[in-house]
Amino acid sequence: MAASVPTRTIGRLSLYRRLLGNLIADGVEHVYSHQLATMGGVTAAQVRRDMMSVGYSGSPKRGYEVTALAGSIGNFLDASHSEPVALVGVGNLGRAIMAYFAGRRPRLTITAAFDSDPYKLNRVILGCRCHALSEAGAVIGQLGIMTAIVTVPASAAQDVADQLVRAGIRGILNFAPIRLRVRPGVYVEDIDMTMSLEKVAYFARQNAETRSIPEAAVI
Ligand code: ATP
Repeated sequence: MAASVPTRTIGRLSLYRRLLGNLIADGVEHVYSHQLATMGGVTAAQVRRDMMSVGYSGSPKRGYEVTALAGSIGNFLDASHSEPVALVGVGNLGRAIMAYFAGRRPRLTITAAFDSDPYKLNRVILGCRCHALSEAGAVIGQLGIMTAIVTVPASAAQDVADQLVRAGIRGILNFAPIRLRVRPGVYVEDIDMTMSLEKVAYFARQNAETRSIPEAAVI
């Protein structure tokens, strides 16, 4: 089961599925592990090990069958039914995420929104009713939600996470720039966009400086 598979393998499987989706769109029918490895920035041995986790093996002559492999990864990663997701913090980022996911992943649908702003409460925003967090237990229990996205300011994120976990949430995608503390049995994935952007800007500057040095000076 997925629980015994390392977190990084799950991330790579999601990446392979996206790459396979691109190949399907280009009309490609077969792909070798070394080709998928180059596209994903991993080794071919890693690709083959990862595919063993989903129980798929290719043919040495023709490689992997692209559509069948994407299907096997989907069977492994996805729930058999559509899974509802909650989002807390319907601000600029929260609304952008809701708009991005609308209709994109039919098996993962943002179904309930939560916010503390009285002007947003009880309104339907991008197709989701916005509730107060005090209703989290009831709404999350009723809809059977296990996964939540947190897009509140850092100062509110820990308290929001605690309330979500009490309400039954077992996985949090956290966009607040703060490391959340949760009890064992709750999975948290942090996305710190500011840190990532600063990192990219730093290396962009480094690369620009390196390029401006005359070639003969670079050993
Ligand atoms: P907006 O101006 O629409 O609020 P924003 O993105 O500038 O957008 P932020 O201050 O980043 O606003 O807050 C994001 C969202 O999180 C807002 O909708 C805000 O009302 C909500 N929020 C803040 N604190 C909490 C909390 N404790 N519980 C639930 N929602 C919260």
